[in-house]
Amino acid sequence: MKGKMKVQLFYGPGDVRYEDIDIPEIGNDEALVKIKSALTCGSDLKTYRRGHPTMIKKASVFGHEWAGDIVEIGSEVDNFKAGERIVAVNSVPCYKCYYCKLERYSLCENLIYNNGAYAEYIKIPGNILKKNTYRIPDKIDYREAALLEPLACVVHGIEESNIKTDDMVVINGAGPIGLMFIALAKLKGALVISVDLSDERLGYAREFGADYIINGSKVDDQVQAVKDLTEGKRGVDVAVDATGIPGVWEMTILMGRKGAVINLFGGCKPDTSINIDTGLLHYSELTIKGVYHHTPYYVKKAFDLITSGQIDTVKFITADMPLEKLVNALELMGQQKGIKYNITT
Ligand SMILES: [Zn+2]
Ligand SMILES: [Zn+2]
Repeated sequence: MKGKMKVQLFYGPGDVRYEDIDIPEIGNDEALVKIKSALTCGSDLKTYRRGHPTMIKKASVFGHEWAGDIVEIGSEVDNFKAGERIVAVNSVPCYKCYYCKLERYSLCENLIYNNGAYAEYIKIPGNILKKNTYRIPDKIDYREAALLEPLACVVHGIEESNIKTDDMVVINGAGPIGLMFIALAKLKGALVISVDLSDERLGYAREFGADYIINGSKVDDQVQAVKDLTEGKRGVDVAVDATGIPGVWEMTILMGRKGAVINLFGGCKPDTSINIDTGLLHYSELTIKGVYHHTPYYVKKAFDLITSGQIDTVKFITADMPLEKLVNALELMGQQKGIKYNITT
């Protein structure tokens, strides 16, 4: 399809511009999609504020959570056709590298990220169309479907956390990812403690099912406040960080009981580090893990969660905003106002 489209281009930290560029041309195994919903994400806010290692070109398209309509399809694509409503995630493993052979698909050495949801159109590469793209059922809105990518990451995080029925689980951070953790931990039958510094976010945490909320700015000791809620004050069975703040990673580790699983999910700034008490790690037999990204298996699980109505998808969307107001939406996110914004063209 020839012509120009509106797009938000990232030029550098704090510098995002609303411009016209050429509509992407597609190859024989690709598809062109008209974006109907693009959701704001914490990682887009990070990109906006401090840049992103993969965005080194002068001007980059960004945004990676979207759903839309196929408007043009390559001649070799046989599993989709023009006119279909679809949602896809932002990458697919290569199935050939060392880590893919180990079936550690989120560690694939050849993950290429398909960004560009903050635009009128996006091009979908052939490999993503084949393995990580889904048709949206009629009963599901575009904006609900667009939750697929972040939800797939969180499904991955939940499955790596080994949560059992009646476990006490603390989720540090009640941003979009923390709230998804709360919703999914409740589906596992856990008792959930949500910790955040914002009463507004803790209100959302309650809506998504948190059994206990703690405003970290209103207690002397967040770690003790969490432990006080557990039997014998011994600490939680599973502790999750969804903040990406090194100091909170350290507190998350201290919130676990002996034998706890500690899931340090939120990605921190580059070149940061944390301190861990070696004796605590050893004698408490803690399992401390990092969890990153998604795999096609978790994408499928997330798609089933959205389409089966097991989580309250609509509740994640605070408001609709037009594409030209993207920066306002990111600023609102930066002020921790609302959960996700639905960017439309
Ligand atoms: Zn995201
Ligand atoms: Zn690979």
